[in-house]
Amino acid sequence: MPPLVSIHDLRVAFNGVQVLRGIDVSLQKGEALGLVGESGSGKSVTWLAALGLLPRHAQVTGSVRLDGREILGAPAAELDQVRGGRVAMIFQDPASALNPVLTVRRQLCEALVLHRDLSGDALKAEARRLLDLVGIPDAARRLEAYPHEFSGGQVQRIMIAMALAGNPDLLVADEPTTALDATIQAQILELLSTVRREMGMAMVLISHDLGVVAENCDRVAVMYAGRIVEEARSNQLFADPVHPYAQGLIGALP
Ligand code: ADP
Ligand code: MG
Repeated sequence: MPPLVSIHDLRVAFNGVQVLRGIDVSLQKGEALGLVGESGSGKSVTWLAALGLLPRHAQVTGSVRLDGREILGAPAAELDQVRGGRVAMIFQDPASALNPVLTVRRQLCEALVLHRDLSGDALKAEARRLLDLVGIPDAARRLEAYPHEFSGGQVQRIMIAMALAGNPDLLVADEPTTALDATIQAQILELLSTVRREMGMAMVLISHDLGVVAENCDRVAVMYAGRIVEEARSNQLFADPVHPYAQGLIGALP
């Protein structure tokens, strides 16, 4: 079986400035991979590039395979079909991704009809089920509320529900808890881990916090200056970090 995703020698430059210097990483179905590294090291660009989401002026080379099929540089229509159905991504600042003048029900239903053949009561029931699944209490009533009526942690839960609407094989979570209070962070990470296991979904968890990724991922890749400088199982990385930057990260943990 080919890996779900395999990235080979991925390089990205902006206006001639190299920011990814040859990334090799792969991910099996259902696996959780953590990507850690300091701000600016290229974590977000790696996955934006892999999924064809960088702005047009980015110079991207290498190979990205989804189920063995090359998607880097694939025609837009093909990419849209492959990516839209199988991959979801959530970001640090969820509020900006929701439309403030549409109810959560409208937005969840729109996400659902993109991917699933649902309408009427079945559609609404599925929206309610998703909201319930991500731990929003009183889901039936809360569906009719607008984004500003939810807390930051709840908005991130709604974004997770939207991401799950397409029943993706891969969820890329880019600093999903960085903007949240510490206690809420832990709850969101717990939610991500639970839904991932229940749905058998693979996840890439991007964070600048090694503790967070190690706790929630099977494997961790450490990025530094546009490269993956170390990759190991989480427990092994803690026991025996090899690269000086990885050693520094572990030394700095409380
Ligand atoms: P992080 O590890 O914090 O997620 P990024 O992947 O966002 O880092 O960024 C890696 C480098 O690429 C940074 O130097 C950033 O400034 C640069 N970069 C990211 N996106 C763009 C862009 N659209 N145009 C130009 N430079 C960019
Ligand atoms: Mg980033």
